[in-house]
Amino acid sequence: MKIAILGDIHANAEALYVVLADAKREQVDQYLCVGDIVGYGSDPKECIQIIRDGLKCPCVLGNHDLLASADLSTWSFNPKSAEMIHWTREQLDTDDKNYLSSLPLVLRMHDFTVVHATLDVPRSWGYVFDRLAAASSMSYQETQVCFFGHTHVPLAFIKDGPVRTEHGWTSLDIKEGCRYFINVGSVGQPRDGNPKTGYVIYDTDAQQVRIKRLDYNAGPPPKCRV
Ligand code: ZN
Repeated sequence: MKIAILGDIHANAEALYVVLADAKREQVDQYLCVGDIVGYGSDPKECIQIIRDGLKCPCVLGNHDLLASADLSTWSFNPKSAEMIHWTREQLDTDDKNYLSSLPLVLRMHDFTVVHATLDVPRSWGYVFDRLAAASSMSYQETQVCFFGHTHVPLAFIKDGPVRTEHGWTSLDIKEGCRYFINVGSVGQPRDGNPKTGYVIYDTDAQQVRIKRLDYNAGPPPKCRV
């Protein structure tokens, strides 16, 4: 089975369409999303419709999804990001907000786990950029593989002894005796210095995870980040 795993779409329908066209060419069997369907971008409703109705794609809750769907304070966001959350709230109807707020924090699918930020305290929205933070999350990981998002940087952490970091990977073989905590990058707002949109394909038969990066009309780089 080939599973396309989409991260941090952030209401960027243009990038999402490019990813979905590629996934179709790859003949994937299933789609999954690691959260943050909305926030930052200008197409929140369209992206929700694609994920929820079009693909019927299982998805976990991201911090932007939570803030856009509930009347919570945006104090932790910079002014521009907070402004986009308030604007997003105005674009969404009750069904959209109910859908977002009902997303689970952690999802167990087949033989792997999906979370937006970390498994140790999923609702704290911690950022995993190093081995220490990865090890902390991986100590709560019950499956061999866990996919996550939130940082928009496609790092992979591998545990076969001490946790090590895999930078700039394009493909990973899932080997027996190892554990994997894999960031799938961001469809809508990559932050690894490469403006190409991206997603991951997990081939469960070949036990291989591949990252795909694709050109699209990205426009100027975003000025806000949280
Ligand atoms: Zn995000």
